[in-house]
Amino acid sequence: MDKAVNSKRSAAKSPAPARVTREEAEAAVRTLIQWAGDDPDREGLRSTPSRVVRAYEEWFAGYKDHPRDYLKRTFEETGGYDEVVVLRDIRFESHCEHHMAPIIGRVHIGYLPRNRVVGISKLARLVEVYAKRLQIQEKMTAEIATCLDEVLKPHGVAVVTEATHQCMTTRGIHKTGVSMVTSRMLGVFRDHAETRQEFLAAIGIRGGGHSYNGG
Ligand SMILES: [Zn+2]
Repeated sequence: MDKAVNSKRSAAKSPAPARVTREEAEAAVRTLIQWAGDDPDREGLRSTPSRVVRAYEEWFAGYKDHPRDYLKRTFEETGGYDEVVVLRDIRFESHCEHHMAPIIGRVHIGYLPRNRVVGISKLARLVEVYAKRLQIQEKMTAEIATCLDEVLKPHGVAVVTEATHQCMTTRGIHKTGVSMVTSRMLGVFRDHAETRQEFLAAIGIRGGGHSYNGG
């Protein structure tokens, strides 16, 4: 039963992420099909390993990109604009690093520009790059905020993520309808309750009773 995966095991021992071949990745999928209890050679499953590997190329495309460099190339002068910029409901699809199950949700981003702004599509792209990796929601939220903060150097950054985790809804405790909310507030959004409230109101989250204070 293990025949398909016992080749090239040594590659996984190197400290840097090992590149595996497409054939090795497809062999691993075959093994998982067998592990699930099915026959990878039956007609309906024969092309599944290659389809899954192609799907992985989309789901985990974020490893190829460096969001910092990407954002750096795209800022523009603000022309004196000094109000909070909010982009809400940026849909994302990610995968949890514990079960490799989908995490699906929305990210809301706010920042108070100092002298640079980025286009809406760049913010959406930033979310995408971090989402298309194995993630935990807290880390993804923090990574988006930190990247914006470091590249744009604004007066503050606010990121709120709401998502459902299929590892929670389809297995384990089977809690459907539960979404997790994580936030990272930096600069004025952390230090000034009014600015934070302005952002939370803009994205339709009531601040009272929650502690959106930096983490
Ligand atoms: Zn999980």
